[in-house]
Amino acid sequence: MKITNEKVIELAKEYGFDLAGFSMAVPLEEEFENLSRWVSNGYHASMEYIPRNLAKRKDVRTILADAKSVISLGMNYYNEENYEGLKNAGRVSRYAWGKDYHLIIWERLESLIEELEQIDPGFKAVEYVDTGPVMDKAWAVRGGLGWLGKNSNVISKSYGSWFFIATLITNYEFEYAVPMKDFCGTCRACIDACPTQAIVKDYVIDANRCISFLTIENKGEIPDEFKGKFESWIFGCDVCQDVCPWNISFSVPAREEEFTKNLTKEISFEEVDNMDEVMFRKKFETSPIYRAKLKGIKRNSEFLK
Ligand code: SF4
Ligand code: SF4
Repeated sequence: MKITNEKVIELAKEYGFDLAGFSMAVPLEEEFENLSRWVSNGYHASMEYIPRNLAKRKDVRTILADAKSVISLGMNYYNEENYEGLKNAGRVSRYAWGKDYHLIIWERLESLIEELEQIDPGFKAVEYVDTGPVMDKAWAVRGGLGWLGKNSNVISKSYGSWFFIATLITNYEFEYAVPMKDFCGTCRACIDACPTQAIVKDYVIDANRCISFLTIENKGEIPDEFKGKFESWIFGCDVCQDVCPWNISFSVPAREEEFTKNLTKEISFEEVDNMDEVMFRKKFETSPIYRAKLKGIKRNSEFLK
């Protein structure tokens, strides 16, 4: 039986996704040019895996030779809770409050693909959740999930920017979306609010200055010039999303329970001081915080003190 857009959307909803969009698997010419410029400016900081397989990002047919379409899926993770405002503690970015989204989304994508293969055995797909050489945000914009905000997040009119993006590259043809118009307009709230002036121009983030990069992917020291500017972020940073009017007006609580229970919103400096590798693993093994490693969290904690 032929798989339709409607069938994918229906199943994606059943597997917990809130948004779905379809785009033709053509080379990403303009987006690739922007990415190449970003890399040649050194804005990728020490994320050397980005220039290493840059060319692959332009064309998904380097991943799946007979790719015809890209399906972009979004899973809302917003949670209405807020920070306690604990003293001597650092704040965790909202996306990392609950269970690691990779663990949840990979499983769901595999089940979704299996179900689609059962409907039509000719359906083939490769899945990504921000881990491979795929420009997931560019595809999400092409698929009509939202527009690329000046803070470099994809913004949906229904959910704001609090959603994870998953990408399926498939050999199947679908009806394709018209990319959404940019609704940032004259707003520059994110640019003005960024504590480290990391949004160096509209849509361009310099990772060397971004708290999110500096507290998570960064393996080195945090430069002294940022001392006192981290606004108590110990893992990630949400300032440019918190101030976005689309998030203020349109955020809705996540349907996914894993994003609403056992939350780590703040981490106390004392807890970090007393933590060894065994304790760190036990507490954060299934959390995105695990990615920063104990060494990174200790460095961040010292930097905030
Ligand atoms: S995540 Fe924080 S530091 Fe990075 S661009 Fe946004 S506001 Fe600036
Ligand atoms: S804060 Fe304003 S400029 Fe920044 S992403 Fe949101 S709407 Fe766009």
